[in-house]
Amino acid sequence: MSCRLAYVFDEALAAYDFGREHPLSPIRQRLTNALVHEFGILEQDNVSEVTHIKPVRGPILRRTHDDDYIAAVTACSDGVTTAEMRGLGTPDVPVFLDMHRAASLICGASVAAVESVLTGNFDHGVNISGGLHHAMPDRAAGFCVYNDASIAIQWLLDAGFERVAYIDVDAHHGDGVQESFYEDPRVMTISIHESGRSLFPGTGPASDCGGPGAEGTCVNIELRAATSDSDWIRAFEAVVPDAIAAFKPQFIVSQQGCDSHRNDPLTNLMLSVDAQRWSYERIHQLSHEHCDGKWVALGGGGYDWPEVVPRAWTHLVAIAAGNPIAPDTAVPQSFRDLVFELSGVESPETMGDGVHLIIREFDGHLDPMSQLDRSILKTREAVFPHLGLKADPHGF
Ligand SMILES: [Zn+2]
Ligand SMILES: [Zn+2]
Repeated sequence: MSCRLAYVFDEALAAYDFGREHPLSPIRQRLTNALVHEFGILEQDNVSEVTHIKPVRGPILRRTHDDDYIAAVTACSDGVTTAEMRGLGTPDVPVFLDMHRAASLICGASVAAVESVLTGNFDHGVNISGGLHHAMPDRAAGFCVYNDASIAIQWLLDAGFERVAYIDVDAHHGDGVQESFYEDPRVMTISIHESGRSLFPGTGPASDCGGPGAEGTCVNIELRAATSDSDWIRAFEAVVPDAIAAFKPQFIVSQQGCDSHRNDPLTNLMLSVDAQRWSYERIHQLSHEHCDGKWVALGGGGYDWPEVVPRAWTHLVAIAAGNPIAPDTAVPQSFRDLVFELSGVESPETMGDGVHLIIREFDGHLDPMSQLDRSILKTREAVFPHLGLKADPHGF
């Protein structure tokens, strides 16, 4: 398969920085970029680096965010003013100098990724600095000021695309993107996340399945805390491939937050890097099956930056470059030394976590005694009839 990749990265994107004590540190991208370089991924002929990113301008921001909110962000960009009614100046989204520009630049990078694919010169785009999926049309939330994922999708719609699928594998519900397109049948948002009962933002029940005229285009898979690799993969396989096949997207945008890892300090899912890597491969495969490979992957959450984030997202970039890295590959010692220098942590020796993944094709059988299968069925019952699919083909 052809996998020409636009890798969007610019040191200037690190300006989106809430300060030393905040979990969403740009060191996550810096280290990922370092590991991507260690593996020589950007030296492949089919991979180009896209740099010199420009911030998106007002008219593009206003397609997703309301004027008053943009004015509030701009006012807070002196680094002093707060606008708590808009979620700005809170512990999750503290204000900082030039915040409006830094957040607009992240959006510019995600737009550059989709634009690269639209030129026809690239099949895939990756922006590891993006994926700020909690930003709402009218307020900041959960470390997110402007929603680069919504802005990139809206940009595709404005360019004439009629069906765009958004797949969000972050441990948290992709609430901001869902909100942006809840009543728009042209966008299918899929979020597989830890239940809102145990995790921020507290939303994303299976019953949220799309507003009037868009029923079946919002897909929420809620998982209990402590969900393991095999259960997560089963839930994904039982819902996502069928939903995507029925929707027939022309473009896939994905949010690849890696805070579903068992080490992550902010969440309670129990995934390995190996399972996260599997999800990247699966989404990559879906893009080739359904939309000629048109796929843009964004970053997102992921707060264990010494041990998890660089490995997870380097797998993502390698997969999008058509040249996956095997999980048992050694992490280059020079990279481990760098991590130790910055964090004092001995990072893992291999690119995987040494687990043996069990992947079974979903055969349509659901077990009423299994809590996992009951939540899978809730999603299928909410969404599948709207897509012309049977929720429970073999009877519960
Ligand atoms: Zn490909
Ligand atoms: Zn998250």
